[in-house]
Amino acid sequence: MAKLIAGNWKMNGLMASSHALASGLAEKVKAKPDRADVAICPQGPLIKDALAAVSGSPISVGGQDCHASESGAHTGDTSAALLADLGCSCVIVGHSERRADHGETSEQVKSKAEAALKAGLVAIVCVGETEAERDAGQTETVVGQQIDGSLPEGGTPQTVVIAYEPVWAIGTGRTPSLEEIGAVHAFVRSRAQESQGLGDGLRILYGGSVKPGNAADILAIPGVDGALVGGASLTVGDFWGIIENCP
Ligand code: PEP
Repeated sequence: MAKLIAGNWKMNGLMASSHALASGLAEKVKAKPDRADVAICPQGPLIKDALAAVSGSPISVGGQDCHASESGAHTGDTSAALLADLGCSCVIVGHSERRADHGETSEQVKSKAEAALKAGLVAIVCVGETEAERDAGQTETVVGQQIDGSLPEGGTPQTVVIAYEPVWAIGTGRTPSLEEIGAVHAFVRSRAQESQGLGDGLRILYGGSVKPGNAADILAIPGVDGALVGGASLTVGDFWGIIENCP
């Protein structure tokens, strides 16, 4: 299975800079298309332009969130159906920044993931513990509950991806040890199997301070099927540096 390297641009980029980033990346990926499966997730209003910028390359474009409903009175939200209609292939749901900033519960994340599947999108479901939870030895309890609560009904390894992102590693330059990442990924796979029968063939990404310098080691860990990348997805050089380092 090819690794999946997905860039979460978060609330970064304006029209010109995001176009340059997407088209610069498309040139690199077109020249070496076999390194990995690559996706970028820009802010909603940039999606259409990003799709145009990567057209003719194998890069997929995704959203950073979607609403659980197909349409309706939900000011400021974006439906999975619109993301699909625009040409997106995937959507991130349950990112820790949305769980923290918007109080999203696993129950809501599950509904969003189900809306994504209904719209024909791959749902990238994020889980991960805080530093306090890790220090208290609660990583498996917390991540296990998030998996049980957030995975959509009826998902398959083709339609669901889990991103394990320790909250304390996001944007901090800190990462768990390679052994710790491997252990949590093995736990995530077995829990996804127990919970939704999704273990075999499921892609489990690691996210949290992946950079060109640590990507080769992290991506070589058994059970790590790719990376969800924040900060380092914002320059062509860094993001390509990660893609190029896929084993
Ligand atoms: C993220 O927010 O999904 C992320 C992994 O961020 P960073 O790579 O900057 O730690």
